[in-house]
Amino acid sequence: MSFESGSRLSLGCPSCSAGETVHEVLSPGGQSTVRCTACGHVHKEQIREEQEIERKVIVSQGSESFTTRVGFDPDERLTTGEEFIVDSPEALLQARVTGLELGGEKRADEAAVDEIDTVWSRAVDNVEVAVTLHPNDGDRDITRSFSVTVPGDFEFVIGETESFGDEEFDVEGLQIRENAPEYRFEKLDHRGDSAFAKDLKRLYARDQSSTAWSAWWYLRQVFSGIWFGMRRYRDYGVAAGSYW
Ligand SMILES: [Zn+2]
Repeated sequence: MSFESGSRLSLGCPSCSAGETVHEVLSPGGQSTVRCTACGHVHKEQIREEQEIERKVIVSQGSESFTTRVGFDPDERLTTGEEFIVDSPEALLQARVTGLELGGEKRADEAAVDEIDTVWSRAVDNVEVAVTLHPNDGDRDITRSFSVTVPGDFEFVIGETESFGDEEFDVEGLQIRENAPEYRFEKLDHRGDSAFAKDLKRLYARDQSSTAWSAWWYLRQVFSGIWFGMRRYRDYGVAAGSYW
């Protein structure tokens, strides 16, 4: 927070009061000129700006991660599952706390910012969701895994049909992440159950693309690896879950 001309704040007045009164900032600076709104006395005051403390933050995004520093209010406490803004030269994004590392490699689910050494987190504004797709003829041998990238608030509902590129599938099961808040079960499988993409560890679905198409797609996947923004499953779930 910085103080501008006209902003008001509570300060001690040397003229009228032993306690604090509301003062108006007349000219900001190292020594700001302020006026007491109770008595009109004008004096100079060094206004202490609210300080932030920087903490090392590791953000995992899909199968990759990067390290940055984020300023936090020193009085703040962080809890796993909580979301915060990463606004740094490396990125501007919304992230969710997945773990807190204190001094001496100690870990906690909740801690004051000044005790924290490293904040582990995961980007949640856009997320990769790992999908396991069972063929609609029930043949387990051609179960496929890949991932789709969607906004974190994208809602998957069991029983609904989703299309991504040329993939079409019916959502059958939703496996919830460990640090996702407020789900009654770790795995949802009842029609109508829903979860946000950012809370999902894995989505299970029934392939609704044609069999011929799927076979062709499968071969294409094997040879090209990446296609239409859909990636082959590359241990994403394992990588994201391995920090904790
Ligand atoms: Zn005064």
